[in-house]
Amino acid sequence: MSPARPPVVLKFGGASLADPARVASDVRSALAEGAPVVVVASAREGITDRLSAALAHPRSVSRHRSTIDELRRAHPGLPPAGRRQLERLGRLLRQVEATAGHDAPLTDRVLSQGERISVHWLSADLSARGLDAVPVEADHLGLITDNAYGASCILFERSRVAVRRGLHRLLARGKLPVVTGYFGRSLEGRVATLGRGGSDYAAAGIGAILGASRVELVKRHVAVLSADPSEVPDARPIPELSYEEAEELAQFGARVLHPLTIEPARAQGVLLRVRSLDDPSVVTTISPARPGRRNRALTMLGPLRLLRLRVPGGRQRPGIVAEVSHRLADAGVNLVQLYTSSALLCLVLEPPQVVAAIRALAPVTREAAAMVEGPHAVTLVIAIGDGILDDLDRLPSAAVRGAEGFSATPRALSVAVPEGRGPEVLRELHRALVSEAPR
Ligand code: ASP
Ligand code: MG
Repeated sequence: MSPARPPVVLKFGGASLADPARVASDVRSALAEGAPVVVVASAREGITDRLSAALAHPRSVSRHRSTIDELRRAHPGLPPAGRRQLERLGRLLRQVEATAGHDAPLTDRVLSQGERISVHWLSADLSARGLDAVPVEADHLGLITDNAYGASCILFERSRVAVRRGLHRLLARGKLPVVTGYFGRSLEGRVATLGRGGSDYAAAGIGAILGASRVELVKRHVAVLSADPSEVPDARPIPELSYEEAEELAQFGARVLHPLTIEPARAQGVLLRVRSLDDPSVVTTISPARPGRRNRALTMLGPLRLLRLRVPGGRQRPGIVAEVSHRLADAGVNLVQLYTSSALLCLVLEPPQVVAAIRALAPVTREAAAMVEGPHAVTLVIAIGDGILDDLDRLPSAAVRGAEGFSATPRALSVAVPEGRGPEVLRELHRALVSEAPR
C-alpha cells in the first residue's frame, strides 16, 4: 500500500547526531507538514574512521577492544538490539584478528556496524522523545547493490519492490522508519558499503525509490559554498544548484556531497536539499535547471600528474582517443581529466597511477610512434555553473598563464596549473567569477 502523500526523506549526518533533541524537533516539523517521513542515519561522527583504523591494524587486539569501548560510550542508552550489534562487531573483529588477510566483504561488514548501532541508538532516543521510531537495516530491507565492495552502486530495479514494500508497511502503521545509510546487500547477498560519505547516496537512492517529494541532507554546520573557505576566505553559500551543476561539483571532489548522490534524485525528479541543523538559514536546494539562474562554484583537485602524449599525425588516427582510454581503463587507471588538441593528448591522473599508465601506453608509443612526456605535477582548478562559457571574458589571464591544460563545456571549465599555483589560481578565479561578478 502506498501512502497518500509522497514521503519526505531526512538524512542526518554523523555530526548532526550529536544533538538528538534537535534531530527530534526537526523530524517533528517535517511530520507537521502532514507527509510521512523516513529518516536515514549515518554512523556517529568519527565512528567509521575509528572502524577503518581498527581494520588497518588487523592483529591489534587492544585497539579492537578500545574501539568497542568507544562505540559503547558514543551510544549511551543503547537498547538490547543495539547491544547485540556491538557484540556482533566484537565477533567480526575477532574474525579479522584470526584471518588478518584482506577480505573486502568482511571489511564492509565491520564498517557497516557503525550505522547499524547508530540507528538502534537513534530510534531508542527518538522513541523516548515520543516519536514512534523503528530501526531498519538497509541490507535486510532489500537495498541491493553490485559486488564492488567498498564502493558499490545501488541497483535500483532490484531494490524497488522490497524497499517500497518494507517502508510503506511501516509508514502505513504510523511508524517512523530510521534506516541505515552507507551500505546495502550485494548481489552475492553480502554487506556492501557505498564508499565514504555514502549515506547521502543511500538517502537519495531511497528517496528516488519511494518517489519522495524531497530528500534533505542535514549536516551539522556544513554548507555548500562557492569554494572551500579554508582556501577562499570570502566563499559564500550557494542557495540553489541545478542537478547537473551539483553533479559536476560532487564529481569534481567537493567533499560536501558523495559523487553518486545526485543522479538518482535527478532521474526521479526528487528535490534535494542540503542544509545545516545548526543554522536553518543555510540551505542549498538542488533541482532542475532554471534559465537565467547564475551559480558559480569552484573546486580544486590535486595533487595530480599530467602526461603529454604526442601522436604524430593525430588527426589521421581517429580512433586514438578511444584506444588510449581503453588501454588505461584495462590497466585500472582512472583518467581524472583529458585535454586534447589534434596531435596532443594531455592525460591527468592520480600520482600512484603514473607508472601503470606509462606501461599501458607502451603499445601506442610503439605502433603510432607516439611519445610520452612528463609527468608534470599539476593541480586542477574547476569552475562550475550553467552557462559558464558566457564568463570567459571575465577570466583573468594570470589564471591560465603557464597552464598545462584548459578545457570547458557550457557547464564547467577546468584548468591544470603547476602544482604550487593551485590555491592562488583558485582565489583569482573566485574573485573574477564570484566576488566581483554580477549576482
Ligand atoms: N559513516 C560513513 C562515513 O563516514 C557514511 C557517511 O557518513 O555518509 O563515510
Ligand atoms: Mg560519517
